Amino acid sequence: MAALRIGVIGGSIAGCAAAVAGSRAGADVTVYERSQAELQDRGFGIVIPPQLHAELLGSGYLDAAMPTAPVGTRVWLTRQPGGRSVRELARQPSPVTPCNWGLLWRSLRASAGAVRYLRGQPVTSVGRDGVGRAVITTARGEEPYDVVVGADGHASATRRLLAPGLRPEPAPYTVWRGAIPLGAPAGRPRELELLRDAWVTLGFPGGHGIFYLIPGGPRDGGTGPGNRLLAYAIYGRAPEGAEPGPYVHELAKEHFPAAWADIVARGGRRAAVCHPVADAQAPRVARPPLLLAGDAAGVTRPHTATGAVKALQDALCLERVLREEPDVSAALERYADERTAAGAHLVELGRRMGRALVEETPDWPTMGQGEVDAWYRGVLAGTRHYLYEEARETGEPVGSASSAPPRPGTGASAVR
Ligand SMILES: Cc1cc2nc3c(=O)[nH]c(=O)nc-3n(C[C@H](O)[C@H](O)[C@H](O)COP(=O)(O)OP(=O)(O)OC[C@H]3O[C@@H](n4cnc5c(N)ncnc54)[C@H](O)[C@@H]3O)c2cc1C
Repeated sequence: MAALRIGVIGGSIAGCAAAVAGSRAGADVTVYERSQAELQDRGFGIVIPPQLHAELLGSGYLDAAMPTAPVGTRVWLTRQPGGRSVRELARQPSPVTPCNWGLLWRSLRASAGAVRYLRGQPVTSVGRDGVGRAVITTARGEEPYDVVVGADGHASATRRLLAPGLRPEPAPYTVWRGAIPLGAPAGRPRELELLRDAWVTLGFPGGHGIFYLIPGGPRDGGTGPGNRLLAYAIYGRAPEGAEPGPYVHELAKEHFPAAWADIVARGGRRAAVCHPVADAQAPRVARPPLLLAGDAAGVTRPHTATGAVKALQDALCLERVLREEPDVSAALERYADERTAAGAHLVELGRRMGRALVEETPDWPTMGQGEVDAWYRGVLAGTRHYLYEEARETGEPVGSASSAPPRPGTGASAVR
């Protein structure tokens, strides 16, 4: 029997992961990537659950040689009221595996080595032929496929075919994302020492910043085990009329403890990119022969640290359903059942986190360990998430269960 033919639109994290999934399930896969250039410099830090990392190594999606910078603790900081020194509010167990976006992409791309990967090939439309197959059109012509995976990112045109009226909902704040070579904050040994073992959340009125170390890439002095970049994501609002990009430096100067403001300043303007924050979720992520993966299926606010995680879990699910269901349409329906629910759950969680951590921030300096723990349990409202270790207490797995829906009966009562 001829192999199943899968066409993938987009060759980034979700597209490469879907390509690995398809080829591992025995399909003949072609990836169409609009960009002519290598994608490796597009991103900064990506955090994934250690359990998912282990699963991806075990199943051959990622190479064990891909460097990571695992840490086991989350530290909550704020600025001492009336001063510029730092105050530690709380520590929580939070094992995470920070990755360099570019190295993650390269590892997935290498694992998808056997598939046809066509660079500089924008897909201009997706239609149907007379026998119900999907047809991908590019400048080169038309190609029929049994399955088309839309992995074309947050502004996905493939999503519009499945959910024509859906528009991303903007959040009322932005995120500045950066990656600073470790030479820049070298004058801050205490902060670097902390980051060797922990990832940091720094609360300020109207937002927060996340700081963590990631492996350096080939252009940042090499991928050797000791080479690290300091990655950050700072969430807040630029005042009316301010130019949003450079504003992160003023924000850090005004609200951060001096040492952390200095780190952001040393990164310089080139280290920071300002992104709008939005979310969107397709009401159903597959309608045979079309299927959505990664940000094309749904975009969650980055507080959940799950955009790439979700893309990787989408791929694992795709491989499983293709292997288990002899009928392709039935496989895609199963994928839709599982992945639509997971995506919707993450969008909802991201909104709740955004409200708590940016839109209605607590009075940080009045909080200590007990207050941070209780407040964050309230935000999670019983939801299991890999960044928070609560599930350990019940002996349940964390990590790749990050997109599981809330367990009944663990909501408001868990907050007390
Ligand atoms: C501040 C911030 C922090 C984040 N932190 C984390 C984190 O810690 N953990 C995590 O898991 N996620 C995180 N994310 C999310 C993560 O970066 C994204 O979810 C992920 O990179 C999306 O991958 P993707 O492949 O779905 O989309 P993209 O990377 O956007 O790729 C889409 C691809 O499709 C191609 N394309 C588009 N249209 C066409 C076309 N017509 N034809 C051919 N190709 C096309 C594009 O060129 C592109 O290469 C974060 C995001 C932000 C903004």
